[in-house]
Amino acid sequence: MDYSQLVETYKKLESTTKRLEKTTIISNLLRETKTEDLRMIVLLLQGKIFPAWDEREIGVASRLVIKAISLATGSSANEIEDKWKQTGDLGLVSEHFTTGKRQKTLFSQKLTVKKVFSNLQKLATLEGKGTVTKKIQLLAELLTSASPDEAKYIVRTVLCELRVGIGSGTMRDAIIEAFFDEKDKETVQIVQNAYDLTNDFGEVAEIAKAKGINSLKNIPLTVGRPIKVMLYMKAKNISDGFERVGKPAAIEYKYDGFRIQLHGKNGSIKLFTRRLEDVTAQFPDIVKIVKGLIKADEFILDGEVIGIDAKTKKWLPFQNISQRIKRKYDIEKVAKEVPVMLNLFDAMQVKGENIINKPFRERRTMLKKITEEQPNKLELARQIITSDEKKAEDFYKESLKKGNEGIMMKNLEAVYKPGSRVGYGVKVKPTMENLDVVITGAEWGEGKRANWLTSFTIAIIDDDKNLLEVGKVGTGIKEKEAGLTFEKLTGLLKPLIISEKGREVKVKPEIVIEVSYEEIQKSPTYSSGYALRFPRVISLREDMSADDCSTLNVLEDLYQNQR
Ligand code: AMP
Repeated sequence: MDYSQLVETYKKLESTTKRLEKTTIISNLLRETKTEDLRMIVLLLQGKIFPAWDEREIGVASRLVIKAISLATGSSANEIEDKWKQTGDLGLVSEHFTTGKRQKTLFSQKLTVKKVFSNLQKLATLEGKGTVTKKIQLLAELLTSASPDEAKYIVRTVLCELRVGIGSGTMRDAIIEAFFDEKDKETVQIVQNAYDLTNDFGEVAEIAKAKGINSLKNIPLTVGRPIKVMLYMKAKNISDGFERVGKPAAIEYKYDGFRIQLHGKNGSIKLFTRRLEDVTAQFPDIVKIVKGLIKADEFILDGEVIGIDAKTKKWLPFQNISQRIKRKYDIEKVAKEVPVMLNLFDAMQVKGENIINKPFRERRTMLKKITEEQPNKLELARQIITSDEKKAEDFYKESLKKGNEGIMMKNLEAVYKPGSRVGYGVKVKPTMENLDVVITGAEWGEGKRANWLTSFTIAIIDDDKNLLEVGKVGTGIKEKEAGLTFEKLTGLLKPLIISEKGREVKVKPEIVIEVSYEEIQKSPTYSSGYALRFPRVISLREDMSADDCSTLNVLEDLYQNQR
């Protein structure tokens, strides 16, 4: 397929905000795409070159793109930077300079999607010394052959800024429209499930086209490739919890740590966060525990890692261990200083058998069979099974006393549903629920804070993963000391800056923080229609991405229930 055909689709997608129209535009393209090209096209439509489960990223800096535009168009880096300052979008800049470039028809050839995709993949996988020049050449080669339109979208893709507005719901519906006659609820469920298991719409589209709906129903789990984890809704209190999950229910401690998905095969262990990031290297202690105490050749398990105080052996809240998730150096040393333990609460695959469609009761039994518990190292989530509200209430109090966040109440007969908040389990927590929000903008400070970003614009998401702002937050972050400082946040956000205007900057939505607040108010100021009153930063959620943020539904629910 010519790249220009994909570009026509991008343009059509940009010309409408209506989801149904977007769905049809995408499905038309998918139908015309050869099976062997589907993965590529689906990824590029989403502005990606690797699926979500793949660790690799494009990771190209604006500087490099400027050099490539310069090389391809013969314009100077200064001219390009000036234009960039005016527009804030290197895509437009590249379009502009490509329009004006000298005719190089002699060297240029028609760009195919394959060529664009393979150059971008090469660019992303080059590593080490001397690769910068190579990367510039790979990109410049594309830009030289590109039309102005094509140049714009290539640059936006490289910078992960393709803003054609397709959420995962739209992609799912487009695949259905392209390959199936039925568009009923069941079909939607099957395709959604297939995505939650593979984290790869390209693969889903390929199977849908080549093999049909039955193959989508039976996607095998692969050890080493993370699946989306099951999520839980919030119940108001214990009786509400029972109403939602039924009686008797399994009730468990809700540990205050971070979610971990364990994959093991023949002694090789991998650990993934809920945003599918591989954190095996960061947790040699957990790997050792799992190797020693899980008695199965093959498994995929679900659990929570929590911190324990090295001296008192008491459980510590999440903030204390968050630094370990992204740690790149001195890993063994911090593992000693900040010890952790593993609490397992579910199993998706045991001894090679996919058990996500078995009831929770059975999954827990199978988990228990392969787990050799050892205090403060590896335990099954503490659990009772009861229909008695008084017993549940006592268990809840006991859990809080131990420093946990609350309890989980789970339906004993429910299957494991990757990725969805279906209500097969609910959480009960005492406080006004904190929100996980993504930073979309910030403001440079003044005076002695002039080198730091200080006030942060924060957003939640709707069902289509659109970002909706809910306010600005600056309190809760430290000036010095350990923990989350302005310096640290500034360091994280600086490479993500998309545009600057006066003291205000806009950033790519990648950094997620947990915030508390006193109240939710209706507000016309922010795009969500709500504002958080007195928000305060609690912690950096390095285990989450923008897709994991609190949703508008949750916010509206909290708003309704706060009075
Ligand atoms: P929340 O993040 O508030 O939606 O609560 C759900 C999270 O609680 C899960 O993603 C887990 O990380 C964590 N959690 C702690 N203990 C348990 C448990 N026993 N069962 C399930 N999730 C748990």
